Amino acid sequence: MMRDDPRFVADESVADESVADGWTPLLEAMLSMIGAGMWEWRLSDGHITGDDRLKAMLALPDDEWETLTIASWARRIHPEDRALFEQEWQRAQHSGAFEATYRMHCGDSQWRWLHDRSCTLDKDPDGTPSRLLGIVEDVTERQEEQRRWRHLAKSVPGIIYTFVLDAEGRPSFPYTSSRVKEFYGATPEQVREDADLVFNAIHPDDRLSVQESIHRSAATLEDWHCEYRARAAGSWHWVEGRATPEREPDGSTVWHGLIYLIDERKAMEERLRRLSLTDELTGLYNRRHLLARMEEEIARYARHGTPFSVVMIDLDHFKLVNDSHGHAAGDAVLQGLAALFKERLRDSDVAGRSGGEEFLLLLPGTDEAGARAIAETLRKAFSQMRFDDGKASTFTVTLSAGVAEMRHRKERLQHLWARADGALYLAKAQGRNQVC
Ligand code: GH3
Ligand code: MG
Ligand code: MG
Repeated sequence: MMRDDPRFVADESVADESVADGWTPLLEAMLSMIGAGMWEWRLSDGHITGDDRLKAMLALPDDEWETLTIASWARRIHPEDRALFEQEWQRAQHSGAFEATYRMHCGDSQWRWLHDRSCTLDKDPDGTPSRLLGIVEDVTERQEEQRRWRHLAKSVPGIIYTFVLDAEGRPSFPYTSSRVKEFYGATPEQVREDADLVFNAIHPDDRLSVQESIHRSAATLEDWHCEYRARAAGSWHWVEGRATPEREPDGSTVWHGLIYLIDERKAMEERLRRLSLTDELTGLYNRRHLLARMEEEIARYARHGTPFSVVMIDLDHFKLVNDSHGHAAGDAVLQGLAALFKERLRDSDVAGRSGGEEFLLLLPGTDEAGARAIAETLRKAFSQMRFDDGKASTFTVTLSAGVAEMRHRKERLQHLWARADGALYLAKAQGRNQVC
């Protein structure tokens, strides 16, 4: 097209010159904008020349430039990068294309990271390159930043990552920090190829909730936050993930975030949860949990008529036990009764300490006769337990119990409690060591 245009058809030599004249300032401007230096490498004698920008960048002594060859250039390269450099330079002698990022010891004794690439300027008649033209950029800052980032990523006790759901909902992990290997046994490259390496490690029971949380975050663009179990380094762990989503113009959603282990916190939460439900001395459920479980059973009875009974237990003359044998021996009696509950009751039964020496059993699926039989067995077994106060003789303790079965759909907790308490009062009044 240009050749047919009369404005471009002129004396060939003039046209060439004008193109060159037009290009030189353009090239200059471009190189100055990207801050790159330029070199030329003559393969016949290996000599290298550089432009002013390259000279300023490398700060080599003037006399070194006069005799600069590829070999003396290589001597200034960091020992760790030299093999890569030499490999590229061998390749460039045939292909003309050189590209490497390496550290060079510059004239001012500074190590600089250089990004260096070339193309062929001239070829021999046999087609092998005879002159290469290259541009060099000082990428020290970028490299240092990446190095800092890698160190930072390594010091974080988790995986830093970028996660993408494309417009069709396909997942991928373009970036994961190197710790992904410790977690999922896969390298960042493998995870980039196959996002399922991460998803398949999620516990089957948690997979759905994780997926839902991701889709919710994608829909609302609110931060993603999820706690779930994942298989890492061969065993299940609790992990927590947090990430901030952004919507891209192509409809994909990108999250930048962090996944880290929370086993210790989960164990602590579980300990606290258990502590909040149980009584410290006996390990039985505490009064608060007993009341909550009773409300649940009452609600179940109201809905389905599922029978259940309660047994209220109080130790006989326990004040006397404390007075004669000491408070520590009294504590041991309370623990002994708790052990008896654990030994004799079913897993579905709930045994708790409702007060000082008062206990409550919640027996789901058990009617009054069944509850009475259980209470009677416990009463008898307890009365035969021998306790030791560290003095000459052992002693025994007895208990009284009141049984009540849930009977009316409208009955409230207080009423059921009062009926059991009334039965217990009767057992006490009738002489103790009995079930009413
Ligand atoms: P009763 O047969 O009428 O129930 O007589 P009692 O002495 O058991 O009744 P009372 O309620 O007057 O006494 C309960 C005693 O239980 C008083 C208290 O010292 C004791 N006690 C309460 N909690 C504990 C505890 O945690 N450890 C010990 N060792 N004793 C406790
Ligand atoms: Mg009492
Ligand atoms: Mg008592």
